[in-house]
Amino acid sequence: MNTIDFSQVKQVVEVPDAAERLLSKSEKEISFSLNLLLHPSGRDARCTDAELVEADAFVVYHNTARGPAKGGLRIWPTVTLEHTRTLAELMTWKTALVGIPFGGGKSGIRLDPRTLSRVSKTAIIKEYVHMISAELHSGAYVPAPDLGSTDADMAVIYGETHRPESVTGKPPRVGGLPGRREATGFGVCHITALASEALLGRNVEGLRVAVQGFGNVGRWTCRFLHERGAKLVAVSDITGGVYRDQGLDLDQLEQHVARTGGVAEGPGDRITNADLLAMEVDILIPAAVEGVLTEENAGAVKAKLVVEAANDPITPAGEQVLLDNGLPVVPDILANSGGVVASYVEWHQAKSGAITRARETYHTVAEQLEAAFHRVSELAKEKRISQRLAAQAVAVEELVATMKDRGWIPG
Ligand code: NAD
Repeated sequence: MNTIDFSQVKQVVEVPDAAERLLSKSEKEISFSLNLLLHPSGRDARCTDAELVEADAFVVYHNTARGPAKGGLRIWPTVTLEHTRTLAELMTWKTALVGIPFGGGKSGIRLDPRTLSRVSKTAIIKEYVHMISAELHSGAYVPAPDLGSTDADMAVIYGETHRPESVTGKPPRVGGLPGRREATGFGVCHITALASEALLGRNVEGLRVAVQGFGNVGRWTCRFLHERGAKLVAVSDITGGVYRDQGLDLDQLEQHVARTGGVAEGPGDRITNADLLAMEVDILIPAAVEGVLTEENAGAVKAKLVVEAANDPITPAGEQVLLDNGLPVVPDILANSGGVVASYVEWHQAKSGAITRARETYHTVAEQLEAAFHRVSELAKEKRISQRLAAQAVAVEELVATMKDRGWIPG
């Protein structure tokens, strides 16, 4: 199933039938099995209690008209080919929307990383590289961290290919990019500030914000928003949430999370995730998981603006409720694309051998996101459509033009 509705997009921009057909399916899908004899503790596989691990794995190229298939490696027990396909498609829209020369891709391994020792995980990643060596060595697919994979895993991939541009999201000391880890949160903050001005007519400084999720994206979003003077009044994660009307003390909250592993019982009044979503704030930022705002609870949202930092946090029916209530939603493909822009900077650095500083990473993220934001908001205003439909239309328009340039479709 496509993540966008072409019948709606075609009311906004011209989409030739050939382009719609190419964008409605994956270009390439590889399914394979990773079979390894591993000892649960990660010791030598010749131990008698070693067990055979068999993990289904997938690589999907959705569309590579604009460049190599770019997208993270997900290692999670729920990975399927269908979901990998959906995530690859989202990367096609993101890379086109923010104007970087990458296509959309994704890979997945169906395993629970929480049950793997470091040694076992390294062995699995090495086998993954071995199985898709043609994709990685040719540069046709460029992975990065995603749910269940880390910068250390990317260092393993680099260790196997010996080519720094074959993978992004590496640790800074292993050819990675200063600023890459914070880039998604930085981008979410930047887009939130732009959206506050354009859609609420207010500077983000002093605005009351609630953030769901305090992982990589949520934590850095909070940090950058705090630096810009926003008042962070509520934060939650899987363990629960905290609220403080005068604004949370972020340093104390970070120390509490480092000590206890979660936001619950942190400095502030105790709240639930449901409370956070319905909080009396200016801006609500879901930065945790998919499907948290639905038809059932979207009517309770009191924020004036919702910024999707997570992928897919609002169901289509939930978004309709928000839009009917006059509440603008900045879509994920725009709000959280700072990470992939930083990946592009890392890939470029790896190819050129240049040294890049964090401020240059932030500068590129800000520039690409700003250009995309203005294009999306102008189109949304001109056609009186949602920010999401406008973002999808801009991405599709770019891809149609690119496929014409490449001679993939007539015109
Ligand atoms: P993460 O694993 O670092 O953090 C996830 C956070 O969500 C944690 O604080 C966790 O406690 C919380 N959480 C999990 N389940 C929850 C629930 N049911 N209710 C409330 N909180 C819950 O992940 P991340 O890298 O921060 O990614 C968050 C989202 O952003 C995901 O949708 C991811 O796909 C998307 N995203 C991430 C990046 C990136 O660069 N990391 C880039 C683009 C999009």
